[in-house]
Amino acid sequence: MRLFIAIDLPDSIRAALSREQARLRAACAGNKDIRWTRPEGVHVTLKFLGEVAAPRLPEVIGVLSKFGSFDSFEIEVAGFGFFPSARRPRVFWAGLEAPPALAHLAGRIEAAMEPLGFPREDREFHPHLTLARIESQRPQPVLQAALDQGGPANFGRFAASEFFLFESKLKPGGAEYSRLARFAGSDGSSS
Ligand code: ATP
Ligand code: MG
Repeated sequence: MRLFIAIDLPDSIRAALSREQARLRAACAGNKDIRWTRPEGVHVTLKFLGEVAAPRLPEVIGVLSKFGSFDSFEIEVAGFGFFPSARRPRVFWAGLEAPPALAHLAGRIEAAMEPLGFPREDREFHPHLTLARIESQRPQPVLQAALDQGGPANFGRFAASEFFLFESKLKPGGAEYSRLARFAGSDGSSS
């Protein structure tokens, strides 16, 4: 099974982001070069685990359960951008404004997972919300124009107080995610 660890969005932010994604998608209608993500699956990836044999699932959940608490922190969803750049776009994303606590949490999770055989990322942590992937990695003037025509891209702020272990199922219409386990910060009880 394909696993990753992520923070989910509250419904209000997901809805606002989904409306803007739909507007941009409509502006780019017919462009098969752009693969849009499912709005219901948009998330803040903390750690990608990749393929894990099903019998190892209890071990992964066990380590995350013993992970300990973390203080909740605020995340603001605002702005758009491209990885690695607008000139050579591979990922189209919505931006996150977060305190160092977010990267710190991702780092702690990564350190907890390493002894189970999940290697650390060699790339820096750039938290974001993936809205689309560009197959050709060619610049997208139509998408850019739609972005320039849009209003202020601010989708609100929320308190990050929990994260989830997700399973990802790769499907032709885009990956489908399901929550396997929830891990709460100090403000709630984990389950
Ligand atoms: P698809 O692969 O079909 O485009 P997806 O990328 O959304 O869909 P997954 O590949 O299962 O689905 O990825 C799940 C999450 O983990 C996503 O947030 C993705 O960006 C992230 N992810 C995937 N591969 C890696 C990787 N090698 N390193 C870091 N994060 C990754
Ligand atoms: Mg992927």
